[in-house]
Amino acid sequence: MEDNLLFDVLSIDEDKVKHIMDTRSRLYPLQPRGLGTAMKEGLVSYITRLSEAHCTDVGSLVSFECSPNFENPRIYPYHSNKVTSTFYKDAFSINCFGTICTDMENALTKLTQRSDISEMNLKKWVFIPRNKAIVKKQKHWCIQCYSKWEKEGEALYDPLIWSIELIKICPVHKTLLQTSCPGCNMEIPIINNRSLPSHCIYCFKSLASVNEVRLVESEDELLFQVWLCDSIGNLLMYPKEFVDTSSICNALQSFRKNYCDNNDRVLSRLFLLENKRRQINAYCRGAANPHFNLLLWFCYVLGIELVSVCTGGEFTQIKRKPNELLQDSKKYFMLESKWSKIDKEIVRNKLTDFLSDDPPLSFNNIAKELNIQESYLRKSFPEEAKMLATKYTNHRTNKKNEKIQMEKNKMEIVIKDYYHANGSVPTTSMLKKLMGYTHITFKQELMNYYYEKIKEFVEKKT
Ligand SMILES: [Zn+2]
Ligand SMILES: [Zn+2]
Repeated sequence: MEDNLLFDVLSIDEDKVKHIMDTRSRLYPLQPRGLGTAMKEGLVSYITRLSEAHCTDVGSLVSFECSPNFENPRIYPYHSNKVTSTFYKDAFSINCFGTICTDMENALTKLTQRSDISEMNLKKWVFIPRNKAIVKKQKHWCIQCYSKWEKEGEALYDPLIWSIELIKICPVHKTLLQTSCPGCNMEIPIINNRSLPSHCIYCFKSLASVNEVRLVESEDELLFQVWLCDSIGNLLMYPKEFVDTSSICNALQSFRKNYCDNNDRVLSRLFLLENKRRQINAYCRGAANPHFNLLLWFCYVLGIELVSVCTGGEFTQIKRKPNELLQDSKKYFMLESKWSKIDKEIVRNKLTDFLSDDPPLSFNNIAKELNIQESYLRKSFPEEAKMLATKYTNHRTNKKNEKIQMEKNKMEIVIKDYYHANGSVPTTSMLKKLMGYTHITFKQELMNYYYEKIKEFVEKKT
């Protein structure tokens, strides 16, 4: 009787179990926080909380769960989660767009089976050029929000809006966001293999611990920041897809027509960008899209809503600020990019100087040293960039080969010693132990070398 019952249960459940197994998610489908509001969670924050929910670290979650689901796995299984991978150098872009962001979005959608993962980055903003400088590389947080959530027993998280480069204040508390750890004073990367939602990755001090609340220095800047939070917040809340990439040029065109006699010169003067007349004409024609800061500047000057410009909706000019005030606030938009004043010849000479550096720097670090955007350097000095990159790659390859050779030498000695003491060759796990490896698996090249060596010993024996 009982057997029958068991059989029944099993036979009924077989399909059901299969169905359940097929439809359940591999990872716990943690609920993102703040969705639908201007304070919705950023994808980087979600990853950090997701790893915490699984009692693991970000490194393991990313390497062993997410990466196998990337189009091209970036972190290979033999990279220990403790190894700082180059992945984390660009991982800040998980909050905006780009390949890493798309890979991560797809992987997490699959692993959690949630349909709202794509809400947590900026990929929806199809109307802006894909410049990743739109988001921060360092963590910024509001201690008042953190302590409030902690008191209320809510999970601590980082809203996407805190990671927008221009945003300096918390949209809720209107106080400056924190930029460095209260314990060790270090700036914290926005994502790292050890990232924690609420603690410093260097000294592990709680970031919610009360610290002095700092205010924006000038009233003007505060007003600007509040305007910025509202504008960007509304854009983040926009519930539908942005389908029309031409809405910005339509908005500019109609503004030029209605308020500037259809004259580019008048429009560029209005924007206090007289020297950018040709560029502005290109934006009106739709030949190019203005970068995000410039778009914000247009809205600020024209006194129109960012969200209505981006969605092609109707807009009316609210009120224009007097020109002398505008001139002052221009700096907040960082419109004068650093490189526009840079003498190309000087930069070229500096780049050539870097060629004689030994050991060579990576191109990314060179850009940092020069304080010039890497993409600008690559575009303006393609030959120098190529030479510097090749030099660095060769250097890296040599270093790698040297390291592998050292490991091979070490391996050979260990095998020999073991053979003399035991009359047999060590197993790979024994070899790992003897070589002082704890968690790393041998790279393929070393594995091959191992097989080669033990073959020699076995042949010697027979
Ligand atoms: Zn706050
Ligand atoms: Zn710290």
